[in-house]
Amino acid sequence: MIRILPSSASPAAERPPRLAPAGPRLPSGRQMYRALLARDPAYEGVFYVGVKTTGIFCRPTCRARKPRAENVEFFASASEALHGGYRPCRLCRPMDRVPAPPAVVTRLLRAVDADPSIRLGDKNLAAMGIDPSTARRQFRAYYGLTFQAYQRARRLGRALHEVRAGRPVLAAQLDGGWESTSGFREAFLRVFGKPPRGARTDDCLLARRIDTPLGRMLALADGRGLRLLEFVDRRGLEREIAQLRRRLGCVIVPGTNPALDATAAQVRAYFAGERLAFDLPLAPVGSPFQQRVWAALGRIAPGATRSYAEIAAEVGRPGAARAVGRANGSNILSLVIPCHRVIAADGALSGYGGGVWRKRRLLEHEKAVSCKL
Ligand SMILES: [Zn+2]
Repeated sequence: MIRILPSSASPAAERPPRLAPAGPRLPSGRQMYRALLARDPAYEGVFYVGVKTTGIFCRPTCRARKPRAENVEFFASASEALHGGYRPCRLCRPMDRVPAPPAVVTRLLRAVDADPSIRLGDKNLAAMGIDPSTARRQFRAYYGLTFQAYQRARRLGRALHEVRAGRPVLAAQLDGGWESTSGFREAFLRVFGKPPRGARTDDCLLARRIDTPLGRMLALADGRGLRLLEFVDRRGLEREIAQLRRRLGCVIVPGTNPALDATAAQVRAYFAGERLAFDLPLAPVGSPFQQRVWAALGRIAPGATRSYAEIAAEVGRPGAARAVGRANGSNILSLVIPCHRVIAADGALSGYGGGVWRKRRLLEHEKAVSCKL
């Protein structure tokens, strides 16, 4: 797993995390649970603990009542716990490092805590008397991730918390008033849409989370195949999900199917260095031009890269490098349609929806593994 939040006092702009396997990153579960019960300060910063029954994550030293062993999940960083669908505890404030965060950062966290389903844009910040550019800069400097990425992770984290529960009939659960006092219902519905009463699961897109050393991913598939595979903090992910839902005319419910089972197994093998090629039923939604570009991306061998112009030539549209760039950017089947293997003509990595640091790590991983395979 990865560490996105810098733990030292020098928060680099985009600190690349390390890919597993580099040996165990966490002490044993028994050791951590003992440390948790003892509120052992020696484990401060070593692990964070998510409490499944409350959806909250804590420092080991938190003074709150300790959860039962079967209800805890351990994380190496606050960021992983956050992407695991947990929200920071208000008692031990596991997102805060020492010294205390700037006042403006505290205000932002409180505002999101009060309603995790809201989106605080520049206008909202200005209305709160906060200068947006100062807020952005300070948040990023303190946590090493942008305020936008934090808000996205919180919204999707709540929705994914439900995906993890994996109950097939979401509607029943919502109607049952589960967490009805919080913004959970709004958050889930905003991200995944409202399931109609009595919807059959085979009409739906099924959503499943997949954990990787580069962060949590969301996979969506129906009977035709895999429709989406993205890192949950990807820029614009909620918009893409909404678009997909509209174009397929369907709803999204937590669950799994053979395509998602195969995806999870192959993504795991990819990061473990056991394979770099994917053999999955893909059902990408896009225009004929986008489909041609995506097919061309699929022919780039692992460990290799191409320029946008080379892909343009390959799809019979020489000179259309910009259009290829747009089609590349609109790919929502990360890894399996390897848009990360397209780089600028001068060798620069250029953009990547999941962050340039991930693109760099993926290319390094593929280069290293393809030599060994
Ligand atoms: Zn706590």
